[in-house]
Formats: sequence, C-alpha cells, structure tokens
Amino acid sequence: MQLKTILNRVTNYKSFVFGKITWQEDTPFPVVDVEVKPRANGRPICSGCGHARPGYDTMPTPRRFDFIPFWGISVVFVYSMRRVDCPACGVKVERVPWAEGKSTMTEEYKWYLAKWARRMSWKEVSDALRVSWDRLFEAVKHAVYWGLERRNLEDIESIGVDEVQWRRGHHYQTVVYQLDEGQKRLLWIGPDRKAKTLLRFFRFLGKNCTFRLVTQFMPPTR
Ligand SMILES: [Zn+2]
Repeated sequence: MQLKTILNRVTNYKSFVFGKITWQEDTPFPVVDVEVKPRANGRPICSGCGHARPGYDTMPTPRRFDFIPFWGISVVFVYSMRRVDCPACGVKVERVPWAEGKSTMTEEYKWYLAKWARRMSWKEVSDALRVSWDRLFEAVKHAVYWGLERRNLEDIESIGVDEVQWRRGHHYQTVVYQLDEGQKRLLWIGPDRKAKTLLRFFRFLGKNCTFRLVTQFMPPTR
C-alpha cells in the first residue's frame, strides 16, 4: 500500500489530489513532503466569500502545512496557493479545505495536538511531539474557540484563572477554566494578563451567568 492510498483514506479534499511524495533532505528528523495539486476541473474557492471563482494566478512559492506525523516522521503538505478573480471580493487567495487563513498547520494536525493537550500537560505534549509552544498553543486555542461556538455556557459556577507565557519574552495569555464538580474544562483564552482581559471574558460570557466564586487556581494541566 502506498502512503498516497492512506492519505486518501484519512482525508477528503474533493477538488485536490496528492502528487509526488519525497523525503526532505538534511533535516534533523525525518520529514516527507507530500505534493498537493488541484484537480484540473476544480475551480478555486474565494477566501473572501466562499464561492467558486475563476482562477487568477498561482503563487510562485508553495506553502507548507503540517499534517499528522506517523512513526516519528513529519508529514508536510506542499501546495502552491492559487488566487481567484472574484467579482465580489477582487483578487483573493483561495480557501483550502485542510487549513485556515495563514496557518501552517492543517486542521487535522491542530486537532491531533489539541486532543493530546487535554490528556497530558502542554509541556509534555510540546516535548514528546516536538512541537513548539506557540504552535501547540495555536492548536489548543483553535479547539477552544471551536468548542465555544457550540457549548452550553449556562450554569457555570466556579472558574479558575491562570496565565501562560506565549512567544518569547513577556507575552502572556490568560486562560480560564471551569472548575465545577463534574465539569472541569478549559473555557476561554484571551490576550495579555490584565484586568481588561478578564473583563473581556465576562463580557463574552454575558450577563446571564450565575457565578458564585472566583478562585485563583493553578490548573493540573501544566
Ligand atoms: Zn469572493
């Protein structure tokens, strides 16, 4: 069985196909590059409005997107983004199904990291999976925001607040956990560690919440 067959089994990018798969040379850890190509008849999707539009051109330098590694081998999708000529948005870069915006991680990889980060400390995940703190944080944040859009936020009674260092130097993010009996979870991540940050959280949570208690808490996940 070929790697391409396996990738087709675990992904479903309708208008794209996998091309050449090659070892990347001179890397400290093994890396395979997986070329991704658009289907000849597939029209690119405008990242502005989400509609299929006529192609405008193709970016000269391909972008690299990390996919889920296997057997200690990193898997990187290599794809030259197209631009569309959109009557509504103008010339825009296309939207691809495996990644959002300017992220260099595939959605699959982000979810993979975020799931491990629920089971082990972020430090352990970062070390074990050789992923930088910033990227791991991006993955966790992505999962948190995905959850926030779908989650029931009523009946939260206790929260804990902590800070994590983010990027080199003194950059921090505030993380808020729900600490109710039977419902402990990462609830929210916001920029900085200021009073304003917490106000933002309370604003996000809305006026109908039923807090009783705010505790200073060092969460067990770190
Ligand atoms: Zn558009």
